Amino acid sequence: MKAIRVQQFGGPEVMQLKNVPEPSPGPTQVLVHIRAIGINPVETYLRSGSNPNLPLPYTPGTDAAGEVAALGALVRHLKPGARVYTSGSVTGTYSTVAICEAVDVHLLPEKISFAEGAALNIPFATAYRALFQRARAVPGETVLIHGASGGVGTAAIQLARAAGLSVIGTAGSEKGEQLARSLGAGHVLNHRRPDYLADLMKLTENRGVDIILEMLANANLGKDLGVLARNGRVIVIGCRGKVEIAPRDAMTRDADIRAMLLANASDADKASIHAALRAGLENGTLKPVIRLELPLAQAARAHELILEPGALGKIILLP
Ligand code: NAP
Repeated sequence: MKAIRVQQFGGPEVMQLKNVPEPSPGPTQVLVHIRAIGINPVETYLRSGSNPNLPLPYTPGTDAAGEVAALGALVRHLKPGARVYTSGSVTGTYSTVAICEAVDVHLLPEKISFAEGAALNIPFATAYRALFQRARAVPGETVLIHGASGGVGTAAIQLARAAGLSVIGTAGSEKGEQLARSLGAGHVLNHRRPDYLADLMKLTENRGVDIILEMLANANLGKDLGVLARNGRVIVIGCRGKVEIAPRDAMTRDADIRAMLLANASDADKASIHAALRAGLENGTLKPVIRLELPLAQAARAHELILEPGALGKIILLP
């Protein structure tokens, strides 16, 4: 089998496609024949050395879609040949095959392609957890998706609209604005324009928004607190540095700053998330947005692209 191997921490070029021995699944595991791989920003942080305790060499990736190739003796909910998507991997998904724990392997509805399946886990599970398990969103509320053009943002628009929330999105490019609008955002603002949050206050008649899903807290958290409605909640999803805030802005609104890491979700929370995603995929309210497909050998290019401005949904690798 072929797999991307990270031999040492560093830039995208440290990822090399290698021949490696094919593993066999343990009793609770599944061998997945991978057809498409989802790229997520966290894989660039880990590759750069954000977690120095990660053993080297390793194969990156948790998100993929493909077919069940072999099953451990204790796995009951899957059959060989089943179309599946993954939400975690023991051996890493930037590969032609991967070993996954059975709890991290989910049936993929027929109408969802492998590329779309690979785009599901981190973006959609994060957006779902942020909206419903952390923000406790209820129909009729207004959510600002601060960074609506990328993987998590495009998922969040779809989940929020399906649940009866009003969505205001932001993007940094005209194409990103169009994408957010096409997915159901009622209003879209450009987060590169100086006065966009003043426009947000006009749109809400100075009330502010009930919920903010924040993709870049180091740039925005201080400003977010000034555009929340009373009892508003900011959910910190993405952050790449420090930020100064005025706590009084939160005090005067009885506002909450809540943060999240998908990896902290309990098994019960994850089961609930994937049940909800399956329902949305089957009833047609959820459909991942694919920006670009690249061969697995171009993993380094995918890591460069995902950190550049101008997000438009997901980048996928094809083995
Ligand atoms: P992505 O696909 O690369 O999208 C990044 C998004 O951030 C784009 O919509 C981008 O918009 C937007 N953005 C750029 N500058 C911004 C600004 N100044 N203000 C607001 N938004 C801005 O990444 P993703 O997969 O959606 O993930 C988003 C962030 O969440 C990343 O930092 C990721 O590491 C993090 N994340 C965290 C968790 C968790 O468990 N906490 C899970 C998943 C992701 P333009 O490109 O259009 O400017």
